Amino acid sequence: RSKAQGRSTFNLFNPSFTEQGMRQLQIETALRGAIDKDEFEVYYQPQAKAQNGVVIAAEALLRWHNDEIGKIGPAEFIPIAEEIGIISQIGEWVLKQVCQQIKAWQNKGHPPITVAVNIAPEQITNAEFPKLVQDLLEEYDISGNQLEIEITEGSFIDSPDKVKTNLYALKQIGARIAIDDFGTGYSNLSYLRKLPIDHLKIDQSFIRGMFSEDGNRQLIKTILSMSDNLGMQSIAEGVESQPQADFLHEGGCSIIQGYLLARPEPADDFEKHFLPTKEE
Ligand code: C2E
Ligand code: MG
Ligand code: MG
Ligand code: MG
Repeated sequence: RSKAQGRSTFNLFNPSFTEQGMRQLQIETALRGAIDKDEFEVYYQPQAKAQNGVVIAAEALLRWHNDEIGKIGPAEFIPIAEEIGIISQIGEWVLKQVCQQIKAWQNKGHPPITVAVNIAPEQITNAEFPKLVQDLLEEYDISGNQLEIEITEGSFIDSPDKVKTNLYALKQIGARIAIDDFGTGYSNLSYLRKLPIDHLKIDQSFIRGMFSEDGNRQLIKTILSMSDNLGMQSIAEGVESQPQADFLHEGGCSIIQGYLLARPEPADDFEKHFLPTKEE
């Protein structure tokens, strides 16, 4: 649904629109109260080296459960949060949770792990954003390289220079930068080259079609060598099978993420499954 349609699709005289509009309104109202009612939880999905399967990082993925509505996935509620102007507030909550979690794992003696956090366009274009990150790093006493900032190509459309300034400021404090869903959006490659990007995340639609649609394998190879030429490492997301992982590794992909390794899971499960203790 486009922004232009917005809430005007709520139409009492069209039964299907009514139902859709009711759900939309219900979600909007519930979403505004979700932080206060403690309805969000951050899940963690491992990222491993393609070369040897060693888990080196995790992506933080937000989950929401509301008593009346039930579970709703981020693919549905994040766009709504953006539309009603509360995505920055939610994003700040996620960042805080993640920093707190990194610190908690550190206190338990686990070796440091990097956590990637999805950052909405509204957040990454905000001039205050690097300061927010810096304050959180100080508050939780963790180092910048334990955070990876994931943004999409769409973040560059409206104010590329603001994003550029922020990315350099984030690099300055040690954070890593990843471009999420790469290959699906607006890509000005010469522009990307001027940015301090560590990782290109190949969109999972390319991985999914790897062995069905012929063109995808060539496309993946092209993205892998391009990312190499740009001096960046690539992360493949949505890797579900060993043949996919093998093909990616052979093509030079550095890091893989997907159900092959694990689904996103609560922090405690992630810790049990993927964080080695000192004794081990
Ligand atoms: P994303 O950042 O591209 O995250 C990857 C999505 O792929 C996640 O969906 C993950 O659960 C799913 N996934 C991972 N491995 C596999 C696999 O092997 N197969 C399949 N079929 N799917 C896999 P999820 O958690 O539903 O999140 C959807 C999107 O919502 C994310 O896409 C991201 O754009 C957004 N999102 C999630 N959490 C946040 C957040 O805290 N802030 C913001 N701004 N956006 C978020
Ligand atoms: Mg992501
Ligand atoms: Mg993605
Ligand atoms: Mg995405």
